[in-house]
Amino acid sequence: MRCVSCQEAAGWWKRRCSDCSKVLALYEQWAGELGLLQLLDLFESHRISRAKIEAALAHDPDGRGTLRDRMAADMTNRVFADLGLGTRQTVAEVKRLRERGDASASTARPASDVRPPRGHR
Ligand SMILES: [Zn+2]
Repeated sequence: MRCVSCQEAAGWWKRRCSDCSKVLALYEQWAGELGLLQLLDLFESHRISRAKIEAALAHDPDGRGTLRDRMAADMTNRVFADLGLGTRQTVAEVKRLRERGDASASTARPASDVRPPRGHR
């Protein structure tokens, strides 16, 4: 069988090779605790090659999104938590809100909006 992430030989009845399994297991163990760069360091500390890491992160193991997208959503939620916002948002929601904001920005600036610093423009 071939690994579903990196397409290399994974062994009999294995959907993932040992390296990609390790990336997924480490991600599930540390997601939300470590940032993207810290996770990359962690993967590399387990002697997993950069190519394998990239392949594993680009793969969607169960239809809920690629690991890379999930890490981005995790980081967004960490920022929200740091700002004291109790809400959790998905990447899709953040993107939708941002696009809606862009559409209205050209017509009127809300009174509550923060103005750029003096001399900025
Ligand atoms: Zn693999």
